Amino acid sequence: MAASVGTVVHNSVEDLCNLDLQTMSEGESDWLPGMAKDVLDGHWRAEKQKFNNTPRHPRWKPEQIKKAQDGLIGALNILLAKARMPQSSLSEVEVGTWRKVQGIVLGNEDTLVSECGKLMGRLDLLIKDQKAGEAEAWIVADLKTGKPPERELNEKVNRQLRLYRDLIIQKNTDHPPIHAEGWYSANQTVHRAKGPSILQEAYDAWERMRPSREPLPATPSEMACSFCEWKAWCPSWWVAMKDGDLAPGGMFRDEVVKLVRFDRESGAALFERAPPVGVDGDVAGSEHRFGAILKGHALEKMRELEPVDSNTVLYLGSARLDGKIMHLGDWSEILLWEPLLNSLMD
Ligand code: SF4
Repeated sequence: MAASVGTVVHNSVEDLCNLDLQTMSEGESDWLPGMAKDVLDGHWRAEKQKFNNTPRHPRWKPEQIKKAQDGLIGALNILLAKARMPQSSLSEVEVGTWRKVQGIVLGNEDTLVSECGKLMGRLDLLIKDQKAGEAEAWIVADLKTGKPPERELNEKVNRQLRLYRDLIIQKNTDHPPIHAEGWYSANQTVHRAKGPSILQEAYDAWERMRPSREPLPATPSEMACSFCEWKAWCPSWWVAMKDGDLAPGGMFRDEVVKLVRFDRESGAALFERAPPVGVDGDVAGSEHRFGAILKGHALEKMRELEPVDSNTVLYLGSARLDGKIMHLGDWSEILLWEPLLNSLMD
């Protein structure tokens, strides 16, 4: 959902930067809020459709449109400030003012590709920055709709922004001074990424990620595994759980189980935990059984998978523990437990 909100804001900013204002008069005001709303609503509908067509998705949260609206307003305000326009409400922004904003945009939503074709980045905005009496500079801006940093950009975002900066430098050898910035729409703050070129490190990382028949060695940890999307195909976290290297989890838990009973109508289910045997994804039976109530997306998924025989092993993702009962709903996943030990490539 967070990614969808981000996409809606990004696409809306792109459209507003590319607006054709030819038929509008310079001094016209009170047009931007309505235009921004129409653009954002269109992207919201498109994103909702994509979201619901994605096989693994939680519940669409309509109330999050407020976050998208606030994000868009924040991003537009940063753009106006960068164009050195006086601070005013969006309804007071005249067509002429927005034309000046469009005039500083050198590129938006472009794909950046390194000369060798190995590295790619998706540029949100490249703008001209010119203070009165100073030489022109360029700013590579990445719109961020997530939580703003308290002080400095975290290492990953810093690295991401420097990659965009360095890809632009590689393509534009006679560029003016160039800076990379994260624009945080939530509190309308701008954070600059500093540091030397990151390209060599990126090439090295690319080399290390070449597809191979054997997967990379797994390195289970609380931080890595907590939100990992690959658990249903990775036996290592389940082994690490059994060995006590990972905590069992708090209110939300992941399990590998066999189905004992399931009532298609009520969604009541009885599962048996299937502890790992060896490190290759094999499991055994156990005496540990627990009841679960399935609703929404989880119930639909279980109905789809049925009938399952006693040998079928299932992965339950994000089951909410309430007393001794698990609850699975729109926020949960039920997948076949199918560890992937080798690449499928020949
Ligand atoms: S679940 Fe597996 S693939 Fe995912 S982070 Fe943990 S060890 Fe790595």
